[in-house]
Amino acid sequence: MAILGLYVHIPFCSSICNYCNFNRGLFDSGLKDRYVAALEQEIRTSPHGGARADTIFFGGGTPSLLDPAEIARIIRACAESFDLAPDAEITLEANPETSSAERMGGFRDAGINRVSFGVQSFREAELRRLGRIHSVERARAAVQEARRADIDNVSVDLMMWLPQQTIAEWRESVESLIEVQPAHASLYLLELYPNAPLKEDMARAGWSLAPDDDAAEMYLWSMDRLERAGYAQYEISNVARPRRASRHNLKYWQDGAWIGFGCGAHSTRDGVRWKNVSGTDEYVNRLAAGQPVIAERRELTRDMRLEDALFTGLRLNEGVDIDEVGARYGKDVWNTFGGALQPALEAGLAVREGTRLRLTREGMLLANEVLSVFV
Ligand code: SF4
Repeated sequence: MAILGLYVHIPFCSSICNYCNFNRGLFDSGLKDRYVAALEQEIRTSPHGGARADTIFFGGGTPSLLDPAEIARIIRACAESFDLAPDAEITLEANPETSSAERMGGFRDAGINRVSFGVQSFREAELRRLGRIHSVERARAAVQEARRADIDNVSVDLMMWLPQQTIAEWRESVESLIEVQPAHASLYLLELYPNAPLKEDMARAGWSLAPDDDAAEMYLWSMDRLERAGYAQYEISNVARPRRASRHNLKYWQDGAWIGFGCGAHSTRDGVRWKNVSGTDEYVNRLAAGQPVIAERRELTRDMRLEDALFTGLRLNEGVDIDEVGARYGKDVWNTFGGALQPALEAGLAVREGTRLRLTREGMLLANEVLSVFV
């Protein structure tokens, strides 16, 4: 049985960014108190309790808005309900404006040993365009505060292809990231969802996005630059120093198992996938009334599990061992998908090396198209 990852969703933010499509809302102290109690209850009454787990990931929203004592309570609930590995990776997503030396010390004492900062840009004008409320200086200080608190496993998120961003400006952010020396970094392309307020801001201010070719150059250049700075790319959007790949996120890409707690949290275990109710109030009220919080539940067929393992596994640099994954789900991967993959192989977007299939870096740029054969 796969060792579990535990995901804990914290849906509160100090302000709402204009591009954000996550399950979150404005911080409300009373609701937050009831939410933490509800989370503890969901964890302590989980039917999966007792199972082995080796990662906890606080995602959001802005989990670092919780007090260290609240994070400690939730970690304690996980440790007392699951068979938690002593060396578990315990990650807190944090925004720079919520960080201070004292709070980072408190999070470390609570059990946090990895912090992932939502920095997004090292240029003030870009932060303002995105509606972010921290400054570049605050972001730099936050990384140092975590490190001084002996949390050396720090990750920084950056977003590329921002409104008005030029290739040179993107390079500036990447160089600044290298200067602050995080152990891990995630580089995402900005995605504009249909009703994003950022779209209106762009129309009003006359901001535009660089051409697609520039976005491709930004991606390829930064992966190359980060490699020269000692990072290894291990997934489409993620790079890490040796042994610093995110153990929790690898479960999503390596056909692993995880249990999600909190509103809107997803879970996958033994071919079953389920999702909690999305609304924070509804989640809290249901738990208070002793009602189940699962909103959707789906049993996956073996074919669906195979397609999913290939779809997510091919996001990794190492790709997937198609013989191994085929044996797991009783199907010959090459016979089933070889024909559909042929154009990508011929175009140099994917390569087959022995039993392994993987995307090239050019293939990663077009991953949605290449991987659509598994959907
Ligand atoms: S801080 Fe993160 S989760 Fe909160 S609104 Fe901004 S992007 Fe969304």
